[in-house]
Amino acid sequence: MDEGASGRLVIRIERRGVRRYPCNGCGRRTGRVRSRRDRTWDDLPWAVTLVYQQRRLLCRHCGIRAERIEFANPKARVTRRLRQQIGVDCQSMPTSHAAVRHGVSWGKARRAEQAFLAEWDRTRVKRQPRHIGLDEIQRGKGQRFWTVLSDVVHGEVIGLRQDRSAATATALLTEDLTGRQRGAITAVCTDMHRPYLKAVGTVLPKAEVVFDKFHVLQHASAALDEVRRQEFFRAGAVMREHGRGKRWLLLRRWKSARGSKRAELQALFAANRRLFRAYVLREKLDRLWTYKTRPGVLNFLLGWFKALRWQRLP
Ligand SMILES: [Zn+2]
Repeated sequence: MDEGASGRLVIRIERRGVRRYPCNGCGRRTGRVRSRRDRTWDDLPWAVTLVYQQRRLLCRHCGIRAERIEFANPKARVTRRLRQQIGVDCQSMPTSHAAVRHGVSWGKARRAEQAFLAEWDRTRVKRQPRHIGLDEIQRGKGQRFWTVLSDVVHGEVIGLRQDRSAATATALLTEDLTGRQRGAITAVCTDMHRPYLKAVGTVLPKAEVVFDKFHVLQHASAALDEVRRQEFFRAGAVMREHGRGKRWLLLRRWKSARGSKRAELQALFAANRRLFRAYVLREKLDRLWTYKTRPGVLNFLLGWFKALRWQRLP
């Protein structure tokens, strides 16, 4: 026992009454020691370092291997119990604080934390979500797209990859999900992005594709804006002035428009009936998600399409 240069308590340990040592590869014991070398492991409690002369063995099955150490993973420089403690601490404090607390370097603490998280991820129960989501996200305007695969029920990200091509979506579905997980999926929620539909169709032919409400209404709003352009911008200077800068106004839902905004909308609709009808249809589409049965949805949709055609709206 002595005090190391780092101020840590160093404890030298040795196996008692053992002549044969376990092989790192297969775990079988052998007495054929090739060499030995001092190795250290930082350990609990409070700044203890263990020193042990680890043997290099000549294993009959694996060749030259290190001796198996029961309290630490191969190549780790901290014991398993210290790794566990650092990992738990890092959930509630910065890595640097955990490093100071346990008297190890930042790098050691970081590696311990990563090993702890990898272990946790490896051993936790893999969910078999029945409903997954495939979405594109964009970091900043004009930035690159990413595709995110998620468990929509638990709100958990399963995988994330750059790009939004069919190949990316296919890779996510095949590599980030196990065969068993794929088998359990009954529905995929996605936007109307064609490459995604293609990927889902090939990888999960039996799963239902669900377009989420947000994306559908986004398309309806785009169509509504197109009507605004048609009606106001191609109809002379006076009308053009009327419709200018109303895009954001039209994005507003009637029930969330208050006071002046509602008055503005009313003025706009008074100027153009066609825009009003398009707006009403967009508002109505919302009700599609209140129907629970197939005939109900179909009935509503057919009626809605009919109204569109009647108004000669795109
Ligand atoms: Zn072996």
